[in-house]
Amino acid sequence: MKGDETAVLRAARLALLGTLGALGLDEVALRTRWRRNRLLILGYHGVALDDEHQWDPTLYMPARVLRRRLQLIHEAGCHVLALDDAVRRLYDGELPPRSVVLTFDDGAYDFYARAFPIVETFGYPVTVYLTTFYAELNRPVYDSMASYLVWKGRGRVLRWPEVLGRHGDVALTDDGRRLVRERLWRYPVEHGLSGRDKDALLARLAARLEVDYDDILRRRLLQLMTLSEAGELARRGVDLQLHTHRHRVSLEEAVFAREVGDNRERLRRLRASEATHFCYPGGVTRREFLPWLRRSNIASATTCAPGIASRRHDRLLLPRYVDSAERSDAEFRGWLAGVAALLPRRRQAEAIGQFLEEPGAP
Ligand SMILES: [Zn+2]
Repeated sequence: MKGDETAVLRAARLALLGTLGALGLDEVALRTRWRRNRLLILGYHGVALDDEHQWDPTLYMPARVLRRRLQLIHEAGCHVLALDDAVRRLYDGELPPRSVVLTFDDGAYDFYARAFPIVETFGYPVTVYLTTFYAELNRPVYDSMASYLVWKGRGRVLRWPEVLGRHGDVALTDDGRRLVRERLWRYPVEHGLSGRDKDALLARLAARLEVDYDDILRRRLLQLMTLSEAGELARRGVDLQLHTHRHRVSLEEAVFAREVGDNRERLRRLRASEATHFCYPGGVTRREFLPWLRRSNIASATTCAPGIASRRHDRLLLPRYVDSAERSDAEFRGWLAGVAALLPRRRQAEAIGQFLEEPGAP
């Protein structure tokens, strides 16, 4: 039922945005004082190198969709600002009309290879919230790659009793894939696997599914860019900012601060000035984080809560519109104009546990 409610609400919202667009009202909204005092922070994750957008359309979009979005921003006459400048102007009441900021999370290799060349042709400033552990390691992110490989093997039957346990023989339908994914995510934790062991497990999984894993590794799908590639982008004008070292937050201040500190220390080697802007990994926000972020000299923090930022927002809880290929042009234009932020929407699902370390975790 929940899904149906969401679908109905979404359909109503889209119909309304379509009507507003047809009447030219988003055009009018773009020019209001209300919009002028607000900052639209756009959030992106991956731009597909191959078929990643078919695997997870909420995280990945085809390059043509990103190009189309930037074209719509251009056509709407938006001012795309650098994050640091935009946050300062927001609280000083000095934003130019139709302000927008572009942010990309994690710092995937596809940002380096696919997204940045597109952004560069528009000449827009861009921020990458770079998580540094896997960038340093230069290996695929285990959970994502396990899920992607299982998707590549869809329709097959997987026999792997020593890893899947009693589910020795699983047909990779939607349900079967979910079961295998969860088993694969738990397995390294239960068996205390090292990073190297996890890599070997992914290679064994790919072999069982007859997926060409060497080819996936060679093309660097689902990998982060290296620190040297990130440094190259910084020299070309990309603003690298904080996203924690291991893409984790913690309920213990010392661990939380260490994550920010370790991340900042890596970024210090890549950027000219200290990184002071933060993005919550997995969008996990909690009230207790705010004083910790202040003590870490964080100037702003962005969430995945959809909205358009105003001076009334705490600068450590700035809303962000996380864009995806599933959004229509009308919906995206509605967000540029700000009107989409005013329409009713369901509350976002609560914090995702996988990004939150419990106290006492290593
Ligand atoms: Zn992230």
